Amino acid sequence: MASLANRISTCRRCDLCASRARTVPGEGPVPCLIMLIGEGPGRKEDESGRPFVGRAGAILSGLLRDIGLSREEVFITSVVKCRPPGNRAPKREEIASCIPYLDQQIALLSPLILVPMGRIAVSAIFGRYGIPFPSFKEVRGRRYPVRDREGGPEMVILPVYHPAVITHNPPARSALEEDFRRLAECLDGLQGKDR
Ligand code: SF4
Repeated sequence: MASLANRISTCRRCDLCASRARTVPGEGPVPCLIMLIGEGPGRKEDESGRPFVGRAGAILSGLLRDIGLSREEVFITSVVKCRPPGNRAPKREEIASCIPYLDQQIALLSPLILVPMGRIAVSAIFGRYGIPFPSFKEVRGRRYPVRDREGGPEMVILPVYHPAVITHNPPARSALEEDFRRLAECLDGLQGKDR
């Protein structure tokens, strides 16, 4: 994982390399049970090189704490590893350039649960596994079993809201909390199961 982060740090595969201060490869234990995947780094993440350190990060830490997990127990990353200027959504071609890094991280981590957070991350992950994506609303909170490779261990994709949703839509907090309760239930269910 460290050598992958090193390669990401010098990556110039897409235009986002021109405006970044630092790459944000992600952090957490290797291997891990839960891999949380956001859209892309924001300003504070770009400055620090660490994922989810801004306001959304504080919300995420609180959601994890509520279900008995700490940040240190999960791997946190994003679909693109460099900040899109002005926090715009990453473009399709930027995601396509960067997704091989996420693929390599998934292979290294071999998580039980992949948790794409928000529409952009869900769409990218569903595309990666060939799962139809009618709309975020229709897939949110449902479990999608997948295998990273033929004969490989089964993982579950569990789409959830992005933690930043409550910064512009405070009533969404209860839906977000419900998503993380589902994550805890999913983890409890899978941990009793042979891989
Ligand atoms: S976003 Fe990804 S593909 Fe683009 S320059 Fe950064 S690390 Fe490379």
